[in-house]
Order: sequence, then C-alpha cells, then structure tokens
Amino acid sequence: MIDDTVRAICRDLLDTMRQTTHSVGVAAPQIGVALRIFCVDVTGHPKTRTCHGELVIVNPRLVVAHGSVRAREGCMSVPDLTGDVIRSEEVVVEGLTPDGEGFEVRTDAFEARAVQHELDHLDGHLFVDRVASARHLHARRVYRSD
Ligand SMILES: [Zn+2]
Repeated sequence: MIDDTVRAICRDLLDTMRQTTHSVGVAAPQIGVALRIFCVDVTGHPKTRTCHGELVIVNPRLVVAHGSVRAREGCMSVPDLTGDVIRSEEVVVEGLTPDGEGFEVRTDAFEARAVQHELDHLDGHLFVDRVASARHLHARRVYRSD
C-alpha cells in the first residue's frame, strides 16, 4: 500500500542515489528501510542501451529474464570490491510507481543489470554472493560507488 511514508522513502532513495557519486541505484534496505523499493538511474553509463532515466519501483517483481552476461559490478554497500557477476541480459519487471500505479519496465544491458542488482538487495543478497569464485572478486583501484 502506498502512503506518505512510502513516498518519503522513495524521495530518500532518489536523494541518496543523486548524492552518491556514480551511484546507479539504491535499495531501501541500504538506507535501513525494510521495504521492497529501489531506484536506479543508468543515464550516461557507457554500457547502457535501454534507459528509463530515474526509475523508482515499489514492490518490484521480476517476470521475464532472458540471456546471460558476465560483467563487472560494484556496490556502495561493498566499497572495497568489485566482482564479475552473471546476470540476465533482458528483463521485465512489474511494480508500482511512488503514486501507486502499476507499471512494467522492459529493459536490457546495463539497466537490466542494475535492476537485478537492486532486486537482490531486497532479498538480502549482495553481488559478492553471486560471483563464481574468489578470483572473480577484485580490489577497487578507482573508488566509485555504483
Ligand atoms: Zn548494491
């Protein structure tokens, strides 16, 4: 159910993402809120194809996932590491807007990766849980927070 509290959390998520340099997404558990809400914005990222700009999804549900691509990922919750993670290439996610309207996001490439990364946060998973082995983890040389 969408109420003022949920809408305030949506604004907090967007503020956190905008204020974190290079962040391409934040999930509610990362700001201490046990709700299924996340935001992503992959605008301008070189690996982006489909781009919805700033996207906030309440109660998201992955309904379609195709393909499989391994690529490097980072996370503001794991600042010292990046990892090579296999994700679906194309996804469709259903959810609610911050105003409570149902909608569907169909996306691919880097935005699909960001969406799957944030969905994982809602289930308590970090990208480090997804790497095939320790050699797929890398120490960060350049600090970004995406
Ligand atoms: Zn993350």
